[in-house]
Amino acid sequence: MLGTLRSIVQEVNSARDLQEALGIIVSRVQAAMNTEVCSVYLLDPVSNRYILMATEGLHKKAVGKVSLAHSEGLVGLVGSREEPINLEDAPSHPRYRYFPETGEERFRSFLGVPIIHHRRVLGVLVVQQRESSRNFDEGEEAFLVTVSAQLAGVIAHSEATGAISGMSLTGEEARDVSFNGVPGAPGVAIGTGVVVYPPADLDAVPEKAAEDPEAELAAFREAVSAVQEDIQRVSERLSDQLRPEEQALFDVYLRMLGDNALPGEVANRIQGEGLWAQGALKQVVNQYVRHFEMMDDHYLRERAVDIRDLGRRILSHLQEGDTRELDYPENTVLVSEELTPAMLGEVPRGRLVGLVSVRGSSNSHVAILARAMGVPTVMGLVDIPVNQLDGKELVVDGFEGQIFASPSAELRNFYQEICDEEDELFRGLEALRDKPCVTTDGHRVSLLVNTGLMTDVVRSLSHGAEGIGLYRTEVPFMIKERFPSEQEQREYYREQLEAFAPNPVTMRTLDIGGDKALSYFPISEENPFLGWRGIRISLDHPEIFLVQVRAMLKASEGFNNLQIMLPMISNISEVEESLHLIYRVYHEVREEGYEIHMPRVGVMIEVPAAVYQVRELAERVDFLSVGSNDLTQYLLAVDRNNPRVAQLYHSYHPAVLQALVRIAQDAHAVGKPVTICGELAGDPGGALLLMAMGYDALSMNAASLPKVKSVIRSISREWAVQLLEDVLLLDSPHVIKSCVDLALRSAGFARYLRPGRGAVPVTSFESSQ
Ligand code: PEP
Ligand code: MG
Repeated sequence: MLGTLRSIVQEVNSARDLQEALGIIVSRVQAAMNTEVCSVYLLDPVSNRYILMATEGLHKKAVGKVSLAHSEGLVGLVGSREEPINLEDAPSHPRYRYFPETGEERFRSFLGVPIIHHRRVLGVLVVQQRESSRNFDEGEEAFLVTVSAQLAGVIAHSEATGAISGMSLTGEEARDVSFNGVPGAPGVAIGTGVVVYPPADLDAVPEKAAEDPEAELAAFREAVSAVQEDIQRVSERLSDQLRPEEQALFDVYLRMLGDNALPGEVANRIQGEGLWAQGALKQVVNQYVRHFEMMDDHYLRERAVDIRDLGRRILSHLQEGDTRELDYPENTVLVSEELTPAMLGEVPRGRLVGLVSVRGSSNSHVAILARAMGVPTVMGLVDIPVNQLDGKELVVDGFEGQIFASPSAELRNFYQEICDEEDELFRGLEALRDKPCVTTDGHRVSLLVNTGLMTDVVRSLSHGAEGIGLYRTEVPFMIKERFPSEQEQREYYREQLEAFAPNPVTMRTLDIGGDKALSYFPISEENPFLGWRGIRISLDHPEIFLVQVRAMLKASEGFNNLQIMLPMISNISEVEESLHLIYRVYHEVREEGYEIHMPRVGVMIEVPAAVYQVRELAERVDFLSVGSNDLTQYLLAVDRNNPRVAQLYHSYHPAVLQALVRIAQDAHAVGKPVTICGELAGDPGGALLLMAMGYDALSMNAASLPKVKSVIRSISREWAVQLLEDVLLLDSPHVIKSCVDLALRSAGFARYLRPGRGAVPVTSFESSQ
């Protein structure tokens, strides 16, 4: 059975569109189960009805015509119960519905299983049999459930492809279908999709027509000869180390690159179908790969790997020779399978209005960067067919975490109004720049910023920040191709210190590992967030840590506003070892003649163990700062980057709030100040609760600062403490969030919450949750 299952999945995976995929499913399942009928009904999000989409055994003309209301018939029953229904005599069941168009009265046995993707019922897969004596057995039921579970993702992806082109399941026009992911950075953007893809990744190549087929063909031929030469060279280099039969593998490679093989077919597609070379190559390679993967012979199946490798090599040469600059329109919405900070950097200044990423979640570092830059972002759109978004008009709703392709005029106007309101709100908040952040009853809180790039500093100053609460030093490390030298680091650090002097600048020592990779220092681990991260790497590599601290200390000369912060502390000994190294560098640098002061040193509380040792930690350092992003991830055991579990990542979770209260109390009990620098501090509701808990300073991205300041200045501490006391009695994160939102609304801050879509009709296409 496993072999059959694998080949069905492979065939379906390679289908061109939804209809072809469904056709393959019904015919292959019918054959595998040796049954008379196999049909797929999909739930159309537009009409909310189950539509017969493909069948083997019922009348084909019923396809697309027969449909059932959401809870009608046996199909509706399977969908609403979300479990298989197996009946020996279906017509005698009270929920049986008869459709003469299908010719179904002849069939008695019925087995239906729901097709469910990320909790959403997409449809129902049904097999039927004429004789009532056939009772589908447990094994058959398990097989159908397995097929359905494996195919749900493919069906969701194909459905989304149709919806992007503005088509409902029945082929009718369906505008304003929303694709739901996870909010990455708040705000709304309207612009043109530009798909960026990592180099030499065939799957990521978009399909498009050739502008000049002759030039495409010439470029392709050149790339093929370059690969032939590469292979020839490798083969010669290894000739004295390989046996003749191994050497023959290279001849196979070279034969595959002969004119009659793969290159011939690619050339035909460029000339015949007018495709661009990269797209034609992708199609042909995928076709070969599919062909090989379906072979029974193990040796031949393995050849799929060679084809893929050849494809990547040709693509890499094609992309090298592709000197066409990506055209970034005025309002660029950057779209990618996985956005990287470098991709953002390539868009010319002032043209980037929105970001869309298939991978990642609201706490991925690219989302944090987007929030710092104030670019509306949606992450974790896992089923969206990225390539289809190139050149399309897109609406990015970073409040709700959803996007729309080719919006109707009505929807565009609705979102344009939100953009205009946001601009107006920010202009109004500019007046608060030089005003202190103090409640109506005189309680003062410092508002600091999180930075990483120099652009953050510029924005922060114009938003009235009182210092830097978190400078992520790994950001300048991430955009280099080697570790920056002490001198280079000194220059980065001095820029930040100088811009804010005499206000404090808190520099966190290198926090790599987890999801923050340096291309020149790769770390490969099964479980990176529980692995070699932050201070653990610094202490294992004192040569990196010492250079960094030395650069920080030297950069601080003359400003005396440096604070050093240690990330990912989970043991007292890590603090002691770090302090020892910092003191050592401090004395050395002074001996070299630098007029510096010993910086204040603090630790981050972002691991549950540290929550229970706040007092012991605080006694050894000058301040504490809570990293609520990691603390939430570790307390709730929810990967901050994984869109599948994003709905479980909740900073308003009672356990997180209790931990935050405890940290503030314990730090103050030993007389040490405590700051928070996770994203919760930049959320107006979160900021109110944190202020009520007694946090001395809130550090956030620059874009959030004016809103937080305006909320805090308008309420009394007493009011916020009451709100905190109320929510601490609640046990559900969602109820707590609603309660805080309600309080904000009643205090007149409805505008700071995510705007609702009100009367504009849209169809929701859940893509990830
Ligand atoms: C945090 O974990 O809350 C934090 C501020 O650090 P980072 O997001 O860089 O891990
Ligand atoms: Mg962290």
